[in-house]
Amino acid sequence: MLAAVLTGREQVGLEERPEPEARPGWVVVEVESASICGTDTHQFEGRVDTPFPRVPGHDFAGRVASVGDGVDSDLVGTPVAVKPSLPCLECADCTEGRLADCHRKKLMGLWSDGCFTERVAVPRVNLVPRPDGVEAWQAALLEPLAVGLNTVDRLGIKLGETVLVLGQGPIGLALTRLCTLSGAGRLIVTDAREDPFRVSRAYGATDCIDVTATDVVSAVADLTGGLGADVVIETSGFPASTAVVLDVVRKEGKVAHIGWANDLPALPVVPIMAKTLTVFGVGGNGGRGQYERSIELVRAGRIDLSPVVTHTFALTDIAEAFHVASTKAEGAIKVLLTPR
Ligand SMILES: [Zn+2]
Ligand SMILES: [Zn+2]
Repeated sequence: MLAAVLTGREQVGLEERPEPEARPGWVVVEVESASICGTDTHQFEGRVDTPFPRVPGHDFAGRVASVGDGVDSDLVGTPVAVKPSLPCLECADCTEGRLADCHRKKLMGLWSDGCFTERVAVPRVNLVPRPDGVEAWQAALLEPLAVGLNTVDRLGIKLGETVLVLGQGPIGLALTRLCTLSGAGRLIVTDAREDPFRVSRAYGATDCIDVTATDVVSAVADLTGGLGADVVIETSGFPASTAVVLDVVRKEGKVAHIGWANDLPALPVVPIMAKTLTVFGVGGNGGRGQYERSIELVRAGRIDLSPVVTHTFALTDIAEAFHVASTKAEGAIKVLLTPR
């Protein structure tokens, strides 16, 4: 079968790989749709240490093609979404069969070969059933939504609060929609590109700030009568954006940090005390039903994912797909791959 393989920095090609086999407790999934996420492009750019050669990719959906021992064979043919982190198979939870409880899960496509291929083996516990009305391409876009849902769960936004979402990449856009659904009043968003703002507005943003043209701190002060936002969510992972968070949140407000990079500034403690702030760190999708509830929000039509999909490529065009996703050329937001 055909697989996309990263062989070095900014080097990706196609290789013929052996068919995967379903071990006991595992299944093989026929990939119908996969999406390129920030982690994949960072691997491509050499900003995340990746053991090469590696088949990248972890956000995908498809159908069960075969099952290993101990897995109900009725699953064959079932449409599924797939959670992206694999259990370690070594910890106490894993060895006692509670794979879903593993606390040492590792991202596929980074620590093991991923989903930018035709078929891939995953543990049965990683499958989430895909209900009628949820297409494979939608289910390949659930991870940013689940991370956003984990954030909103933790923040406990109140109806009518002013929310500021810094960064309008896929997670920032998911949060814009989720904060609208959570009852945000004024909903301010920022980005260094104008491209995503058409989606931000469709998702309920009331004010879009281009950080390359406008000073965020004074703009937020103007929009909030000098008070700052009740809730500030940093999704961009850019040091300059992280650095203003404590300046744009109101006294007794709440802050969440999701945007991740290794060069972020340290969080100063004094303003956190002086403003009596609550600070949340969000390191993933939470694993407490957020993935399942994300599917339900899509199924129920509460979030329309079509505006974030700007490009779809065949697996055979993997080099072009990575180029577009990495450079964000042509207004790219989310790039989808279809194996066939
Ligand atoms: Zn991802
Ligand atoms: Zn484990």
